[in-house]
Amino acid sequence: MQRRETDVLVVGAGIAGLATALSADRKGADVTLVTKAVQPTEASTWRAQGGIAITRSDPDSLKADILDASGGTASETAVDVLVEHADEAVREVLVDTIGVEFDTDSTGEYEFGREAAHKEPRVLHVNAETGKHIHVPFLNYVLEETDVTVLDDTAALELVSHEGRIHGAVLERAGKWAPTFAGATVLATGGIGGLYQRTTNPPSTTGDGIAMAALAGARVEDMEFIQFHPTGCETDTGTFLISEAVRGEGAVLRNAAGKRFMPAEHPDAELAPRDVVARAVMREHERTGGVELDVTGIDFSANFPGLAATCETHDVDWETGIPVIPVQHFLCGGIAVDDVGKTSLDGLFAVGECARTGVHGANRLASTSLLEGLVWGLRAGEAATGHRITTIESPELLDRDPALPANFAQQKFVRLRSVMEESLGVVRSPSEIDTARAGLRRLKGEVDAYVRTRTSRSLYELRAATIVAVLVARAAAENEQSVGCHHVNPSTDTTAEGETMRPSSGS
Ligand SMILES: Cc1cc2nc3c(=O)[nH]c(=O)nc-3n(C[C@H](O)[C@H](O)[C@H](O)COP(=O)(O)OP(=O)(O)OC[C@H]3O[C@@H](n4cnc5c(N)ncnc54)[C@H](O)[C@@H]3O)c2cc1C
Repeated sequence: MQRRETDVLVVGAGIAGLATALSADRKGADVTLVTKAVQPTEASTWRAQGGIAITRSDPDSLKADILDASGGTASETAVDVLVEHADEAVREVLVDTIGVEFDTDSTGEYEFGREAAHKEPRVLHVNAETGKHIHVPFLNYVLEETDVTVLDDTAALELVSHEGRIHGAVLERAGKWAPTFAGATVLATGGIGGLYQRTTNPPSTTGDGIAMAALAGARVEDMEFIQFHPTGCETDTGTFLISEAVRGEGAVLRNAAGKRFMPAEHPDAELAPRDVVARAVMREHERTGGVELDVTGIDFSANFPGLAATCETHDVDWETGIPVIPVQHFLCGGIAVDDVGKTSLDGLFAVGECARTGVHGANRLASTSLLEGLVWGLRAGEAATGHRITTIESPELLDRDPALPANFAQQKFVRLRSVMEESLGVVRSPSEIDTARAGLRRLKGEVDAYVRTRTSRSLYELRAATIVAVLVARAAAENEQSVGCHHVNPSTDTTAEGETMRPSSGS
């Protein structure tokens, strides 16, 4: 790995990082885009299914749905930025520049999908495999049509920080590391699904950017708001997602007794906000022993051929009902940023799922995160240009040993994921959160002891995961109110006498 200098260093090559790199390149900046991935499939962007929401010239309607889904907790200012720039960003970048061909109907007009908690059909999609049809052409465009330097299989380990300003990051490739100094550094490292046993995200989503930013002293917010997708399908051969678009078409949820339960739960039944559906699915799972998505009322294989094929690959007979369970899906919180992605530290920006813009509040509306990554990426790319590069002393991690005991990271990850799954899932209890927090702090201490003398990518991913896990547990412990994705159920907390320990307000 060579020591480098660049105007703008972008860490992460999902939709948010690619949009940032494109817009900084258009402003004439020298841009370096790094991703620890070897294949595009290692980004959540590639996996996105349902699509990307636009306003269809009615920004107020999309804004109202985002605010409703968040239970009124989303930031109106941030949502205004999103809806104001949505249609133009999608048209100019995704359609005109990189050539995404969203699905059309027989008349050649766009076919808009409707997803949970959207009052209108407004989701552009390609099949139910929208992510890969955006990610691959976007990556190719940046590689072939811009001056951006793209380095794959290259991980950012730590930010270069001096007197409260960020000057780049230490990058690792093939076991060697060196600093890249940058006028501005943009974190676009995605979500935190790798902290959970059951997730729709790639396993490499270990929260690296959030951990790096937190260690450097950046503000991190709303970490308790982790969205669980109600219809994950867990099999012996892996966990995958059944898009909400399938319920949008008319598929229904049934418990193990074959009974539909969502109509009694919410006026929008299966199309209620995700947090509501996830809690109901979890409850019916525990109460009746299982939940299935019944797709017999729709033309599943014709309308969702990719999902039908995925079911078959995993030996799931979709014709008799797809077994579903809530799975970790999306982080609503993250590194606190303003309307151009600037963090609380000079020289540091964050975009995409690792950033907390305020758009999602306590619960995200479906099909708004690709859009958020695109809109904030384009804005951050512009704002990140024009800053002076300063090279400073090399950080101390440059002298460490790369060796780690065999299976060290794997074993610690098993422990971490089991605590996160058990205690920081769909429904949480105050005492479980407290116990989890103590256990995660101990785990972090054990990992930190190694980080003092050793450096390797897997150790740094583990360190990031433990830091982020502690941040999630702390935020969850400090918020006693049930709101959106953070649902505290004190009735699961009983003393030896069987009394409830701590009340919770809100619903
Ligand atoms: C199965 C699934 C379906 C979804 N469906 C939809 C949908 O239909 N509509 C919608 O709007 N949203 C959807 N989402 C959510 C959405 O896809 C993500 O929130 C969004 O793509 C995140 O984009 P991103 O650019 O922030 O991160 P990602 O796309 O995850 O990219 C992160 C990048 O950072 C890199 N990286 C991470 N750490 C480091 C490091 N230390 N050094 C270097 N590189 C690093 C990764 O390799 C990767 O390149 C879905 C998510 C999943 C998982």
